Amino acid sequence: MDHFLYRNGQLHAEDVPVAEIAAAVGTPVYIYSTATLLRHFRLFDEALDWGPHLVCYAMKAASNQAILTTLAQAGAGMDVVSGGEYARARAAGVPGDRIVFSGVGKTRAEIRTALEGGIRQFNIESEPEMEAVSDIAAAVGISAPVTIRVNPDVDAKTHAKIATGKSENKFGIPIARAREVYARAAALPGLRVVGIDVHIGSQLTQLEPFRQAYRKVADLTRALREDGHDILRLDLGGGLGIPYTRSNEAPPLPTDYGQMIREELGDLGCEIEIEPGRLIVGNAGILVSQVIYHKQGEGRDFLILDAAMNDLIRPAMYDAHHDIVPVVEPDTGVEQALFDIVGPVCETGDTFARARPMPPVGPGDLVAFRSAGAYGAVMASEYNTRALVPEVLVNGDQFAVIRQRPSFDEIIKRDSIPAWL
Ligand SMILES: *Cc1c(COP(=O)(O)O)cnc(C)c1O
Repeated sequence: MDHFLYRNGQLHAEDVPVAEIAAAVGTPVYIYSTATLLRHFRLFDEALDWGPHLVCYAMKAASNQAILTTLAQAGAGMDVVSGGEYARARAAGVPGDRIVFSGVGKTRAEIRTALEGGIRQFNIESEPEMEAVSDIAAAVGISAPVTIRVNPDVDAKTHAKIATGKSENKFGIPIARAREVYARAAALPGLRVVGIDVHIGSQLTQLEPFRQAYRKVADLTRALREDGHDILRLDLGGGLGIPYTRSNEAPPLPTDYGQMIREELGDLGCEIEIEPGRLIVGNAGILVSQVIYHKQGEGRDFLILDAAMNDLIRPAMYDAHHDIVPVVEPDTGVEQALFDIVGPVCETGDTFARARPMPPVGPGDLVAFRSAGAYGAVMASEYNTRALVPEVLVNGDQFAVIRQRPSFDEIIKRDSIPAWL
């Protein structure tokens, strides 16, 4: 469910007509709904109400300070994967003890900053990283709370580029070696083992792969406790998928996910942590664009938009589908025509959709990419020297620009000319 609906023939973001924002800010532009963000965060929070838990928003999905602040004020923790994200979380007012640090290649500088600044736990991804955390913790005299990310070798049944829980993926340590690695962790100075971490992938549309992974985590919890480790927390990662189109079957709801966690892990007495990203922000954001041209090609028609792959790379990178709808509500029963919907960038990959049925839209009309909130603006670039796409946050009948579109002057001034030129 989201808060982007047609009202009086116009697509609205909550109570604000999308066309009004486009007129004020220009296009392309990302628009987020506060109500949708908070609704999704609360769904997860309530789904785990049966026991102690913390929902750590995986901020790599959308990391604008205004989004982080909205979620932080609602009580969210954060899952960060870089020193930059750690700095963002702290700047949004998230205390260190609500931040978990994930990621396969934490640098020594990042580890040190998080340790000194305060961190709930490091999710350790490898033995060399474990040694680095131990070294630094011992050197600065602060004990480092750690979980170890185990790779359960289950098939997440998602796109290969976002599956992380198979043995051939770079993530975590093989679950079969976990007891050995935990024994090493317990012997190293500076580390305090607090739990287990697992994350098997993104955009999962079934509960079964999660269930398989969590069952393995439950067995491992018992085994590690027998070995004398304190397993107090289970970090179960993120990955629950969202409906990208209304025509497919919807993925499981957070409520069902929470219930499944309870069934598999509820009797272990652990604090549950989850790291949802996409499900919190995905349907809370749209990308609004204007049609520049309708070009008639040979055997196909192109709609050329002012948004491109540099603004939303998901179709090019993951073959992702986004519903694309006109901002002015089409009449019911209107005849649709097939279009290839593309951006102006000089790459064939700059194609958002092929042979997509669309109601009549033409030059000057606005269209909205639905479900664009996650892995949208955060992956945007200035390729083709197209200004970094701006972001707007709506709350009821108010909206605010939360990231300005830079001017060409600002873009050019970021470079510097060496003295010899
Ligand atoms: C990307 C990621 C997440 C979030 O995944 P979503 O599919 O956006 O929910 C959570 N945890 C880790 C470790 C990740 O890498």
